[in-house]
Amino acid sequence: MGKLTGKTALVTGSSRGIGRATAIRLAREGALVAVHCSSNREAADDTVTAIEKEGGRGFSVLAKLGVPGDVHELFLALERELKERTGAVTLDVLVNNAGVMGGVAPESLTPEAFDRLFAVNAKAPYFLVQRALDNLPDGGRVINISSGLTRVANPQEVAYAMTKGAVDQLTLHFAKHLGPRGITVNSVGPGITDNGTPIFDDPEAVAAMANYSVFGRVGETRDVADVVAFLASDDSRWITGSYLDASGGTLLG
Ligand code: NDP
Repeated sequence: MGKLTGKTALVTGSSRGIGRATAIRLAREGALVAVHCSSNREAADDTVTAIEKEGGRGFSVLAKLGVPGDVHELFLALERELKERTGAVTLDVLVNNAGVMGGVAPESLTPEAFDRLFAVNAKAPYFLVQRALDNLPDGGRVINISSGLTRVANPQEVAYAMTKGAVDQLTLHFAKHLGPRGITVNSVGPGITDNGTPIFDDPEAVAAMANYSVFGRVGETRDVADVVAFLASDDSRWITGSYLDASGGTLLG
């Protein structure tokens, strides 16, 4: 029996990258997983197919985050699908993973781009947690994907890092708020992780990025997914309000 048998989970942004690996990993532990992305149904269904190939259970829900009505739309679909499959709308594990990066020089970032970063990376997770409060049972789990860039300076990503700093505050304060219900809230901070984008096909770029980790390689999505799976399980019950460094030692300098 898996560590999450009988549990339900939502992983935002799980059509690819870290979210996809996380959805597959949680399903491998027995969870029924809601695979979410903004609009690419085919990609989300690919994740569901990968889950089902391993004998797991999942379904896809689409909702663009960072726009008015986003959380309502997501939960409308989520609760409908959960009810159909389990007869209830209980959500045991919420993984706030969906995120967008900036990659713009600090001098060039526009207010619109700044607002979008905050809308997707910080505002949406806040209101997803708020909306999930009625669905999360005692002992539930909230896992927020932060970034090592909250600890290491990279001027190209100052606004992005600010959004992840906000995510860490979401973790800290909701951990206290939800402690009496036995719900844990934690952040996971990946370092450079191969999410399948073209830069990871360039051996020179990969070699340069690998130097950041004390292990001399870039992270794989499963490196982060395994940490999330630990936090989702009962094994992590005594950890809350924490930032788990999942950067392969990048922060060691
Ligand atoms: P990817 O870019 O590979 O995937 C992002 C996922 O989020 C996709 O499923 C995407 O779906 C979804 N998404 C993005 N924007 C929205 C939106 N507005 N509404 C709904 N869904 C959205 O991401 P990664 O795997 O690289 O990163 C995952 C998380 O980890 C992010 O929070 C990122 O900040 C963090 N992180 C990543 C690192 C890395 O090196 N990869 C390092 C540190 C942190 P769709 O395409 O349909 O929009």
